[in-house]
Amino acid sequence: MFRIGCHLSMSKGYLAMGKEALSLGANTFQYFSRNPRGSGVKPFDTADADAFIAFAAEHDIRKVLTHAPYILNSCAATEELRKASLEIMTEDVRRLEYFPEAMYNFHPGAHVGQGTEAGIGFIADLLNRLIVPGQKTVVLLETMSGKGTEVGRDFEELASILERVTADREKHVGICMDTCHISDAGYDVKDRLDEVLETFDRVIGLSRLYAVHLNDSKNPLGAHKDRHEKIGEGFLGTGTFSKIINHAALRDLPFYLETPQDLQGYAQEIRLLSSLYQPDEASGER
Ligand SMILES: [Zn+2]
Repeated sequence: MFRIGCHLSMSKGYLAMGKEALSLGANTFQYFSRNPRGSGVKPFDTADADAFIAFAAEHDIRKVLTHAPYILNSCAATEELRKASLEIMTEDVRRLEYFPEAMYNFHPGAHVGQGTEAGIGFIADLLNRLIVPGQKTVVLLETMSGKGTEVGRDFEELASILERVTADREKHVGICMDTCHISDAGYDVKDRLDEVLETFDRVIGLSRLYAVHLNDSKNPLGAHKDRHEKIGEGFLGTGTFSKIINHAALRDLPFYLETPQDLQGYAQEIRLLSSLYQPDEASGER
């Protein structure tokens, strides 16, 4: 089935986000665990979380994706900064264990001149400390556009991180593919989607792909910029999104919009994409 949602604000709590998602025609959503530019977090509200869990079950809202604040840098130049990232992420992930199924997405980080190899080592080290074998929450590395010294700008770099995660933690780590970022990184999802996904499968493995951020891009292939655009109004165009959401390798994954939209704009994009999604008749899907 088609699972689509958008980025929502956590400011009114979990249940409010669930209700908002439903009102927009979404059956999933993404939100920042805390202020995206800071580290403050509200105390955990168990009653609100319980009300949300019941509401989500009733309305089939699933695969909610929690996004780490993007100010964090797990491969920062000082141990103090790296430790701060680990502490915040640890607090977030422990909190997510309360929910029956949760995914936690983060930007791998920027090596800030220390070199890609060093960055990859720091990120793998963070994952090996963050993940407790047996936890339910799946931690996702996001594909990056390659601006500045970002790590995770190609599938090989992400694969190197995953390879260094210990075997008992492996099944708790996956990838979130961002369509704007990979196009900006130089992967031609617009005209060579099959090839891009074959490369992903060969280098990382499609079984490691858990989520897709659906964003058009303000910039052309390989621009390394990371400027999201509304669906259909950027370089990728509506036809690309139709191919992405219907592709056999992607169609059963959850899709999240992070386009520069207000809530009504998100509702429109959800309607547009839902109308482009072709039910798989062989499976009796409607
Ligand atoms: Zn994204």
